[in-house]
Amino acid sequence: MELKEYADVVHRCFRCGYCKFTYDFSYRGFNCPLYSTRRLESCSPGGLMWLIRASLMEREIAWSDRLTDILYSCTMCRNCVQQCRFSFNHKLVGIFEAARERVIEAGSVPPKVNHFLTAIHGYGNPYKLLRQDRGSWAEGTGIRLYREGDDFLYYVGCVGSYDSTGQRAARALGEVLLKSGLAFGILGSQETCDGNEVNTLGEKGLFEVLKQQNVQTFQNMHVAKIVTLSPHSYNALLNHYPGGFEVFHYTQLLRDLIKGGQLHPSRPFPERVTYHDPCFLARYNQEYEAPREVIRSIPGIELVEMDRNRENAFCCGGGSANFYTDVLGGGRDRPSVARVHEAYSTGATVLAVSCPICLTMLEDAVKTAGLEGQLRVKDVSEIVRESL
Ligand code: SF4
Ligand code: SF4
Repeated sequence: MELKEYADVVHRCFRCGYCKFTYDFSYRGFNCPLYSTRRLESCSPGGLMWLIRASLMEREIAWSDRLTDILYSCTMCRNCVQQCRFSFNHKLVGIFEAARERVIEAGSVPPKVNHFLTAIHGYGNPYKLLRQDRGSWAEGTGIRLYREGDDFLYYVGCVGSYDSTGQRAARALGEVLLKSGLAFGILGSQETCDGNEVNTLGEKGLFEVLKQQNVQTFQNMHVAKIVTLSPHSYNALLNHYPGGFEVFHYTQLLRDLIKGGQLHPSRPFPERVTYHDPCFLARYNQEYEAPREVIRSIPGIELVEMDRNRENAFCCGGGSANFYTDVLGGGRDRPSVARVHEAYSTGATVLAVSCPICLTMLEDAVKTAGLEGQLRVKDVSEIVRESL
């Protein structure tokens, strides 16, 4: 939708501020990562809408670098969509995306965002690393390239392919899938960025290019089922690609394999574990239970919940490319640091995640928070591998 089509929503929002909190306010703090980091009304969902109205819609104030910074600091976590009590709530993130489209057209994105988009345009990944090295993480693991007729294509994504921490999760999942006996393979150098972050940044043209490249590859190889490491890939492929294939997040597949008896986690993992819901699996796609079922299936684990969980989970701060760009910033007050303190306060010794971006963000935050040796961050795939 174009920005002008959101005019009614911008007027009907009366800045009540429900969207800044969890649903029942039982948690004392704020749940919009943008507002909780900046603590300015202009950096709340309602305030941001007023800024968009006054600048991009009504032209009452001039667009500025400061407004661009606020607009791109939103992590698109959908807490505001979840918590706003009004019928237009589902349109909230769309307004921010439409505003970003305008800013992209005007060529005034923040330099860090521009760098991110330029890298993906040129290299198919935000790290400016070689396409032919995209599958190098799998060397020596026994994980092979996809062959027509395989049960599943394993879509890894940029973080799992290139980031050293993300690669840890990519290998763990690959090794678990190997033990299940499934026939699967990766695309290696034929995979390109799924474009989920590009889409939320408002660069619709580049998103279309990435989507078409991936879809063409899937079609050429007659791919019928895809399992993704990242919830970001899952969201893009499930909701923004044209279909013709089934898409699963890996926790959904592992749950089914465990239930079907193809995987037997039997070695005890005697830890108190708390689980962090990633926005693009949880609030975007309402998958709250599959990761928890996998965790509960492992002997020895005591699963405890943080105050903010499921629909009320607090974003790690990495969404909408903030993992790469860090436009949101925040130093020691950043959302990821608040989140690891919250996890630690449950008495958990392990913070489980099911997203390579959350894994990297929260592991860094454990160091910033001085919790090394007291709280370990692990991907669910790593926990399952240890239990097999
Ligand atoms: S977006 Fe919804 S909850 Fe937030 S201030 Fe506006 S009306 Fe209130
Ligand atoms: S999407 Fe998340 S970060 Fe952005 S305004 Fe809404 S609650 Fe805040």
